[in-house]
Amino acid sequence: MSLCVVTGKIRHRDEHTARLALLDCVMARNRGRHDRREWDVYLCPKCKGWHLTSMIQPRSAKKGPSS
Ligand SMILES: [Zn+2]
Repeated sequence: MSLCVVTGKIRHRDEHTARLALLDCVMARNRGRHDRREWDVYLCPKCKGWHLTSMIQPRSAKKGPSS
């Protein structure tokens, strides 16, 4: 297992492998591991490996009443 020098993320050799890792994260989340926020995979243009994208949800964006 290698890491991306640019993002520091785990580098998966192909999309299939990345999706398997993503599935692990989803299952962990379903078991209550809410620190796992990975939700998709993408091909990194820097290292040509596949990474998981993390979901970032800013808490400040509160929905107000729309007019
Ligand atoms: Zn990379």
